[in-house]
Amino acid sequence: MRLCRFGDSRLGLVDGQTVRDVTAALEVLPAYRYPLPGYDPLIANLDKVIARIREISTSSPVLELENQRLLSPVANPGKIIAAPVNYAAHLSEVASDSQLSAGNASHSMTIHQVGLFLKANSSLVGPGEGIGLWHLERRNDHEVELAVVIGKRANNVSRQDALQYVAGYSIGLDISIRGQEDRSFRKSPDSYTVLGPWLVTADKIPDPGQLDLSISLNGEVKQNSNTKYMTLGVAELIEMASSFYTLQPGDIISTGTPEGVSPIVPGDVIAATIEKIGSMEVKVRAAHQEKSEGEPIEHSVSRQAANVR
Ligand code: MN
Repeated sequence: MRLCRFGDSRLGLVDGQTVRDVTAALEVLPAYRYPLPGYDPLIANLDKVIARIREISTSSPVLELENQRLLSPVANPGKIIAAPVNYAAHLSEVASDSQLSAGNASHSMTIHQVGLFLKANSSLVGPGEGIGLWHLERRNDHEVELAVVIGKRANNVSRQDALQYVAGYSIGLDISIRGQEDRSFRKSPDSYTVLGPWLVTADKIPDPGQLDLSISLNGEVKQNSNTKYMTLGVAELIEMASSFYTLQPGDIISTGTPEGVSPIVPGDVIAATIEKIGSMEVKVRAAHQEKSEGEPIEHSVSRQAANVR
């Protein structure tokens, strides 16, 4: 099943080029009161919601998918976890390129040495919202990643059991400002985590370790790999993450990016694809139109200028 969130936070069942508006299925969710739970209510109750969708879908309104503004399929994750340097070829390109490593020694360490990092939940958007770039004077890069959405509470689970804790998969973009600061800081501006175009339930992807993934920038392919090249697979990442904190329904694990990262600037259009999930187009703009003094920001920052800084 492919579930999207669209428009003013409506729930959609994706079927080919159309989407069924199954928002009415959300009525099965419990009513929450303060204090709100630290997990995503939709993902925590996904089985019940899916059962209701099956009952109402054929009588639900049908809409054209391409006319819808897609939001992140997870609205309220408790945390966004990300894997650094989880593809050997990306580790090599970072270690050999001073613009990527920015002189930061930790950028040539392996994932076993550096572990995982967290991104601010406020960085999360859907593909229809686009990416607003902060700090245009610095290099901003695209990173395409398989994103895992956790389906149930997972504490210290083994890799053998780990995939039972997955609700589904999406395409993730881990947008990054290059530099010396901690990853969580450079990768957490608003809109720097894109999740979409929808959630594909885990039953449709029994082996997340055999998926082609790619990204093109303005029509030119930049990253093109397969999740079989991940250093730590999905199961190992869940084992590692859940050995340091409890995973909750709706928690997102972005599994790391392959080689081929490159700079993005306002006006760019990103197209990201992962096998068995789909494709999404994401537009890039400047986050801020003007500086506080009313002085316009240089919008025509060239790719070359972004490269050298
Ligand atoms: Mn990344």
